[in-house]
Amino acid sequence: MSSETGNHTAGAAGERRPGGREQDALDRQALQSRMAQIGHKILVLSGKGGVGKSTVAVNLSAALAMAGKRVGLLDVDIHGPSVPKLLHVDGTPLTGSENTLYPVKVELFPGSISVMSIGFLLRERNDAVIWRGPRKYGVIKQFLKDVEWGTLDYLVVDAPPGTGDEPLAVAELLEKADGAIVVTTPQEISVQDVRRCVVFCREVNLPVLGVVENMSGYTCPKCGERVGIFGSGGGENMAREMKIPYLGSIPIEPEVVASGDSGVPMVKGFPHSETAKAFGRIVRALLEREPEGAKSVVAGNGKPLRIAVPVTGGEMSSHFGQCERFVIFDVGEDGKSVGRREELVPPPHEPGTFPRWLHEQGATVIIAGGMGSRAQSLFNQNDIRVVVGATGGAPDVLVRDFLAGRLETGANSCDH
Ligand code: ADP
Repeated sequence: MSSETGNHTAGAAGERRPGGREQDALDRQALQSRMAQIGHKILVLSGKGGVGKSTVAVNLSAALAMAGKRVGLLDVDIHGPSVPKLLHVDGTPLTGSENTLYPVKVELFPGSISVMSIGFLLRERNDAVIWRGPRKYGVIKQFLKDVEWGTLDYLVVDAPPGTGDEPLAVAELLEKADGAIVVTTPQEISVQDVRRCVVFCREVNLPVLGVVENMSGYTCPKCGERVGIFGSGGGENMAREMKIPYLGSIPIEPEVVASGDSGVPMVKGFPHSETAKAFGRIVRALLEREPEGAKSVVAGNGKPLRIAVPVTGGEMSSHFGQCERFVIFDVGEDGKSVGRREELVPPPHEPGTFPRWLHEQGATVIIAGGMGSRAQSLFNQNDIRVVVGATGGAPDVLVRDFLAGRLETGANSCDH
């Protein structure tokens, strides 16, 4: 972090008087236009600190990125912004200008996480403590409004713990969020905090996507016996009682601490751990909420959905660079119905040509069999989302299945 940037931005947010209704309206407009480029917004909340909220936010974001999503991770936990450390980007200098801050990119093939943390702005860890209530609100607001995310499928927000003014500010400012994931540990005291969190969500009209019970039991690596260090099942019982979805439990695993220290999320560094598997299940549940395979893209960049499929001999070509032509489909505003279909012959293939050319044709998605990470990032830079691992067949069938959320994708056959 450059101390100049931190100093400047935190100070500006703090000093600036809201400036009356006019300024508020301008700020809201700026925030809304940033948010319009984001498909899904998910808040990660907890009744108190130390229950693993940031660990959940980071692993959730990483698992979504590894599922091919463009993810933003926003850490507004003023009192303990730990996301930069958990992703090994602490100390990264921020770039941007007065009203624009660029997030720090963490590539997690095939997707990526754009990270922004209030921790990048703090000159010293004690800074937050001296901010008074209204200043904290101002900082959170400015921060949300000024980050240049670009187009994202998901924005995961690591919110301040508790149910006070700070999480309230986040919930209010992130209007139309999909909902909150509430993290708890199994102890009765923590579960009570979560009850308060659930009531809080209801008061601010924020749907509760579900509860995750973290630190739920420990399995002895020597004898395999499961020990409920903080108990277990409290979160699940509470979820049942409050009629909210239970998303699963994450055990105590020493690797979680090691992963936090090394800055490599569990889902990447320890993919076979119970923790990684639990996140896999949570992310699948979230992705199943996307009824049409590409809905997030439609809502995401505000452009009409236009899907390109590389084709040779009437079937999807698994090596897009060698295809004879592209079949391009327009999708209706409902994100489900297929409209106009056209077949176009691309220019001679050289690295970067197809992404640019398809962008000029208005394509927003390409369905491909295999694609290397460099090519994927060129498509992403041209605002085209890449769906890899399609196993072949007629382009019309692939697109129909994609829109119905049932396109089967296997391994990326070109993952060099
Ligand atoms: P919060 O964001 O709620 O304050 P953190 O995610 O920072 O909590 O986690 C607090 C501490 O607990 C960290 O040191 C983290 O590594 C550790 N931790 C979190 N979840 C687990 C787990 N399932 N097993 C072992 N340690 C964990």
